[in-house]
Amino acid sequence: MGSIIRLHVAGRLEAGGRVALSREQAHYLLSVMRLRAGDALAVFNARDGEFGAALEQTGKREAALALGERLRPPPAPGPDLWLVFAPLKRHRTELVLEKAVELGCARILPVITRHTDRVSWKTDRVEARLLEAAEQCERLDIPGTAEPETLEALLEAWPRERRLWLLAERGERPDFASALEKTPPGPAGILVGPEGGFAEAELEMLAGRDFVSAVSLGPRILRAETAAIAGLSLWQARHGDWREGAR
Ligand code: SAH
Repeated sequence: MGSIIRLHVAGRLEAGGRVALSREQAHYLLSVMRLRAGDALAVFNARDGEFGAALEQTGKREAALALGERLRPPPAPGPDLWLVFAPLKRHRTELVLEKAVELGCARILPVITRHTDRVSWKTDRVEARLLEAAEQCERLDIPGTAEPETLEALLEAWPRERRLWLLAERGERPDFASALEKTPPGPAGILVGPEGGFAEAELEMLAGRDFVSAVSLGPRILRAETAAIAGLSLWQARHGDWREGAR
């Protein structure tokens, strides 16, 4: 059997309950996934956990779900890791969003830098991508996001106790893996620059903040999305929930 469809439902979920579906959800299940009355799926949200469900068709384009048993309890808080990146071309941004969800980011924030490409960031579309990725990777919680803001504004508002790892492709920087080994675990963010890199003035501004640590991911210049994936993976392996005993 192929993997079961997982649908995020914001409303209250409880064993034996019933959930009315929105038009979009009904359309997705009936017309896109071609489910029929009685077909099984799973529904979830971060507050109530995950439940088995059976589809009920209540009209040509309307459906509801009869909830069965709870399959998974609400999630324990995930790794406290944020990703901050400069939006890229649309398909590259979408790749970063998808991978950041899979790699367990709690928040995914767009930042506008001097060399950021034309910003095409539509928060509702971004949220839809985050939701899809969570449905696919069996995450129960959906990472938060925000409207794009400038690097200056981001640094001004940054919680000082959260270490911000600046991925920097040039200059003598400690390697990220070793830097993580020397740092106690705690709330963190990873900052990835745009394809054009950070401007000198931005690197200076970052260097002036004591919560920022600049680190390297090796001698080659990576595409921004590669740097994001590699950086998130290193953090997860050392400080996150990839470590045995951390879950
Ligand atoms: N055009 C820039 C490269 C930017 S790469 C130049 O030629 O200098 C896009 C982003 O990926 C960078 O801003 C940085 O955050 C990250 N990155 C790429 N390669 C990296 C490396 N080897 N180490 C750390 N970060 C890297």
